[in-house]
Amino acid sequence: MDRPKESEIKIENYLPTDQGPFVIHLEKEGLKHYEAGKLIIKAIGEKHMIDTTTIKDGKVKVRVTNYRSANMILASQELKSMGLKAYIPINHIISVGTIDGIKIEEDLEEIRKEIKCEAQPVKIERIMWYNHETKTEIPTEKIKISFRAYNLPSSLSIFGGLFLVKIFVPKLLFCKKCLSYGHFKKICKSQIERCPKCAKEIHPDTTCETNCKFCNTNDHPTNAKECQEKIRQFKIKKYMVQNKCSYKYAKDNYTNRVSQIFAVPEYSYAEIAKLRTTVQEYSRKLEDINNVFNVLYKYAFPQQPDTDKEESLDAIKAALTDYAEKQESPMEGHSSN
Ligand SMILES: [Zn+2]
Ligand SMILES: [Zn+2]
Ligand SMILES: [Zn+2]
Repeated sequence: MDRPKESEIKIENYLPTDQGPFVIHLEKEGLKHYEAGKLIIKAIGEKHMIDTTTIKDGKVKVRVTNYRSANMILASQELKSMGLKAYIPINHIISVGTIDGIKIEEDLEEIRKEIKCEAQPVKIERIMWYNHETKTEIPTEKIKISFRAYNLPSSLSIFGGLFLVKIFVPKLLFCKKCLSYGHFKKICKSQIERCPKCAKEIHPDTTCETNCKFCNTNDHPTNAKECQEKIRQFKIKKYMVQNKCSYKYAKDNYTNRVSQIFAVPEYSYAEIAKLRTTVQEYSRKLEDINNVFNVLYKYAFPQQPDTDKEESLDAIKAALTDYAEKQESPMEGHSSN
């Protein structure tokens, strides 16, 4: 499996076609969430603001009503002059998924152009499998796709063939020096190097007994596939990606129950056909809603120009997204295992 490369995609602005939520991260030493709110309201006006929340010390997440408001913050000289760094968090505009079953001889650029999907694919790459014995990368039939969308699309089609999109969870970082998760050997700060087999301090002889650092069992070495700690770390990472949150938040909030709710389900082929119908039905319903809105709007505000209508649509979208987010928020108070 390859390493995540989403950071290579640079997004400077929101586009009218982006669906939201419209989120900006603001950074400045010691910045509090209410201060960020105050500065933004002063710079671009109160009607653009939804809310601000602290991510960590000096880093604040700002939600605004539409793409224009977000771009106004990004372009604001006033905010820049106060030393505020404003940017679009990449995972709020790019979601990464995988599809399986694309032959290795296919030209991915051609495939990318043929993808029909509710979200725009911006980057496509083949997932490689690393063979440790031969130290070579072997191409797989799995394709990793970065979409310009907050939510990962559930399916897409290529030349009329339906594919289910699964969430892409980056590989766990594992340190071969101290046998811990979350960093690589290169940046390890540990004083002790551990034996990969018995997890005790490294030793020259190889006669030691297998022992896992986390489970304290002889069944498997540290970082084995079946290790409960490795499984837990993977679940945290998956939760992190699914909920676009920090490692700390994920660790505090993930539970088996929650990850089941959020897990992208595995579908049978019979279910795929059903899913396709559902997707088509929903797009028709969305169209209906849009038509109804247009009629209502004309009836309610016959004199109003169309630009205002766009604003109202944005506000409705933001409110709906907000509502959906609240519905999906994990319940508080669940501890891990
Ligand atoms: Zn380490
Ligand atoms: Zn050992
Ligand atoms: Zn273990």
